[in-house]
Amino acid sequence: MTASIPNSTAARDKAFALHPFVDPLANVEPFVVTRGKGVRIFDEEGRSYIDAVAGLWCASLGFDNERLARAAYEQMRKLPFYHAFTGKTNQPLVDLSERLVQLAPSPMSKVFLANSGSEANDTVIKLVWYYNNALKRPQKKKIISRMRGYHGITLATASVTGQVINHTSFDVPLARFLHVQTPLFYHNGLPGESEEDYASRCAKELDDLIVAEGPETVAAMFMEPIMGGGGVVVPPRTYYEKIQAVLRRHDVLVVADEVICGFGRTGAYWGCQTMGIEPDILICAKALSAAFLPISAVLIGKTIVDAVAEETHAIGTFGHGFTYSGHPVPAAVALETLKIYDEENIISRAAETGQFLQAELKRRLAGHPLVGDVRGAGLIAGVEIVADKAERRNFAVTDKIGPTLVRLCEANGVILRSCPNDTIALSPPLIISRAEITEIIDKMEAGLDLIHSTLR
Ligand code: PLP
Repeated sequence: MTASIPNSTAARDKAFALHPFVDPLANVEPFVVTRGKGVRIFDEEGRSYIDAVAGLWCASLGFDNERLARAAYEQMRKLPFYHAFTGKTNQPLVDLSERLVQLAPSPMSKVFLANSGSEANDTVIKLVWYYNNALKRPQKKKIISRMRGYHGITLATASVTGQVINHTSFDVPLARFLHVQTPLFYHNGLPGESEEDYASRCAKELDDLIVAEGPETVAAMFMEPIMGGGGVVVPPRTYYEKIQAVLRRHDVLVVADEVICGFGRTGAYWGCQTMGIEPDILICAKALSAAFLPISAVLIGKTIVDAVAEETHAIGTFGHGFTYSGHPVPAAVALETLKIYDEENIISRAAETGQFLQAELKRRLAGHPLVGDVRGAGLIAGVEIVADKAERRNFAVTDKIGPTLVRLCEANGVILRSCPNDTIALSPPLIISRAEITEIIDKMEAGLDLIHSTLR
């Protein structure tokens, strides 16, 4: 990392840039990332770091890729931009939409392209409302999601997000957004309760909420198959089977947010396949383009597409779309990404490396005196640090134990992320090797040992 000298990039960053997820008065020294290679990024001094979170859970093919760079360049030379309004289209938009319909884990009919996960989820909320207006159910508008779920940051998607830090002082959640509990057995299961019984209790809580609100007022439930930013929460066995039964009974749409889980992250192509979810609507982004360019997609089932079409016909046009919906350059990069996943067997290789990651984290860290829980699937994992293993008690937030481990590992060349309850998240590029995973775990173990020795 670079000390801030006048006119350095770091100093000008401090002067001019407003950053997401930073306390601007905490004098955080900017980390200037200069280049990337494989799973590593480099700082201004040329030091290298394995990025064990793939940036923001997104750089699935790492930080350099000739094929993707070429796909962008060639598309820019051919058609650098065109919009998708009023019937205009372009080849990458069409090819990508068709491919995503083929790949979908449950039958989908059409695809709407946007630029970010937030835009895609925001689009879904509007589509769900539009759909219920089309069906003459103007009351059926409430959206359910889960505490600690993360679905984006626009006014509406921050309302779906269940993290207090994204609500406080922003005047969200807006009305019509409801949250149920985080399905985290490790903390929320009762003494003596089985995972299955806990799942039944979560389903009952959901049912009770829908009944109390009135099923005629509840439209959809958003879910990340495995929660990422909320601390890698893998719901208990039978949870999805049970909550989907509740949602179907009350005619509430199932919306799968695959922004993190999609494209091999959890060991299958989709998180829905790993977890047994049959969505009516699916959102993907991040690994869709290996994060080389911003793009997201909403995959929509036929019943919804048809109702939306009827409503649109009655109104005269579909009054929703972004300037860059279906931009040909990110769409071309996304198509090339999907080809790379197929041709280079990235998804099946990631499933194998994912098994190694999960097994090694358990083998080497689960017994550590500071580690309460190790959870995950495929190449997404969470290691939760606790003050008391028997009581499953976390440290006080002010102890900053998770951020301390992240800082120690960063100083040793590994980038990690601290999530709620001092859960250290791992979500490395899908191309990571076993040796690189071992290096990450070595650094985590050393950091945990150091913290433990200072606590005694
Ligand atoms: N959904 C999930 C599950 C996410 O993890 C994120 C971002 O991390 C989003 C939605 C929002 O995506 P974006 O930051 O591209 O708006």
